[in-house]
Amino acid sequence: MEENNKGLAMLAQVARGLVAHDAQQTSTQLGDRTTYVGMSDIGKGAECLRAAVAGKLSLHQKPTMQDIAEWFRAGEYDRIRSSLRRNLILQRGHWMENGFAKVLNANGANLLHQLEITVEHDGVPIRAHLDFTLVWGWPRPAIRILELKTTERIPDTLYAGYETQLYGQLGLLKTYWAKPVFAMRDADGSIVFEHLTFPQAAKLVFGISLPREADKLDMEGWVLCLSMSDARAFGPYRPDTAMLGMCQRIAGEIWTTAHQIQTGETALSGVPYCTGFHPLCDWCDHAEGCPKFTAQELDDPAYDQSLEDLADLKASKAYLEEAISTEEERIRSFYAATASVGDSPGWLQTAGFRFKVVEQAGRKSIDSAKLDAELRNELGDEEAESLLARITKTGKPSHRLYVSPRISHQSQGMTS
Ligand code: SF4
Repeated sequence: MEENNKGLAMLAQVARGLVAHDAQQTSTQLGDRTTYVGMSDIGKGAECLRAAVAGKLSLHQKPTMQDIAEWFRAGEYDRIRSSLRRNLILQRGHWMENGFAKVLNANGANLLHQLEITVEHDGVPIRAHLDFTLVWGWPRPAIRILELKTTERIPDTLYAGYETQLYGQLGLLKTYWAKPVFAMRDADGSIVFEHLTFPQAAKLVFGISLPREADKLDMEGWVLCLSMSDARAFGPYRPDTAMLGMCQRIAGEIWTTAHQIQTGETALSGVPYCTGFHPLCDWCDHAEGCPKFTAQELDDPAYDQSLEDLADLKASKAYLEEAISTEEERIRSFYAATASVGDSPGWLQTAGFRFKVVEQAGRKSIDSAKLDAELRNELGDEEAESLLARITKTGKPSHRLYVSPRISHQSQGMTS
């Protein structure tokens, strides 16, 4: 028992450190987020306007170091664990990002880390922070934006919010290329440069001369998804005027709606929210009070127990899937090593099984956001919508169970 208490005290210390580090990191790298609309706000707003606006208004009070200390004194260990888990997930992205910057530098890349673009569009302050911007001056001037996302598992397709974020970054980089809107800070938040055009920044940092017109270089964006043991690059994405226009429109909606709520012209309850099942809801800070989850209280603890049991089963399933995936990877690696020492071995046999590894063609998928934007550009809104309606097939309705933790509850969100 004494050891458990010591363990919990240690976890409380880690949770306090994570809370302090999060606050410090946000203020040194992102500044006061209430004074602009960021690309992650826009990505979120593309999926749920209510979540983006509530985030802009800072309606969710994050736990402080003092809160953690009080929870520890009061024995509210579940709340400490909940804060710890949430911050670990949020901050591992920053840790991976810093490690990844070293990886790219080791590769000899001309790398700008956390390049900042600050602009105003129709009175709306917009700021983008680009995780990594790689610069080549020769043989052909080229720019690659890398947006890093850390995930438990590598997704098959990218979330719309991530794509929107990247399109916004690419659009701003190209549109404001020759305007003095670029800045960069070091890890301590000190300014490396500010108020430069992109070619001026590249000259200052790398001594590379780039064209004054963004059209004269090859520009691409990629989203790099990293899990603890795998990686996948989604792309390439290219600057797209229609997608930038969409990002600017969303930024305007977030900014104006937040302002209207502050002045009492409207209420958060009237702001549109994403309907149906959405992964964003699992980790949303604004789920409590969200009209989507207007719920009837069930007092019988048996209901809670059933959901707890389901959560345990889900956790076991996730563990088993991870274990299966690890074992399969190990066997695949063994097969590859066998193949590399001679001709392809074909089937390998054990006493009870035979196995081989064959290459399969990759799955093709359509970038629906890009298709939508291209069709609207080519055909106009009305014809594009009518065409999309004609070719859209709707499957049979099914019943999806959606379970998510309430704010004070510690179990993870899940769906089935
Ligand atoms: S819970 Fe879901 S629907 Fe409600 S604000 Fe959050 S993300 Fe939007």
